Amino acid sequence: MTTGGQHRGHCRCGSVAMTANTEPVFSVYCHCDDCRRATGAPVLAAVAFMKDAIDWQAAQTLKRHTNGTAHRLFCGECGSPVAQEHDSAADRTFFNTGFMDEPECYPPAAHTFEGEQLSWLALTDDLPRAKTTLSIKRP
Ligand SMILES: [Zn+2]
Ligand SMILES: [Zn+2]
Repeated sequence: MTTGGQHRGHCRCGSVAMTANTEPVFSVYCHCDDCRRATGAPVLAAVAFMKDAIDWQAAQTLKRHTNGTAHRLFCGECGSPVAQEHDSAADRTFFNTGFMDEPECYPPAAHTFEGEQLSWLALTDDLPRAKTTLSIKRP
């Protein structure tokens, strides 16, 4: 995960953008039904940054939908999913890897909610697989 220090992301229309000046905490696949519905994709790949390292730009259209302890951030202008936040890890924001300007830089390091993975989705890797969430270590 090296992009020379600065990490950037933006939505399809550019109304929401961010930069982060520290390295991400981790990158992960999530196969849960909630992520599937929120993204419309068979699996979510997300990369987490500490909230205090994130600088939001042009984020006046950033919207938030809360369901229980999960908060989904999206662009109210173009509808792009942007990120998610969880009360259980309140100090970080999990950006959808597709929101990042250089998604190649954030290969997932693990799978979460593997029991909900779609049977036809073939991912041939040897990454660790968790039944639900990973225990999140403080950096
Ligand atoms: Zn947008
Ligand atoms: Zn999920």
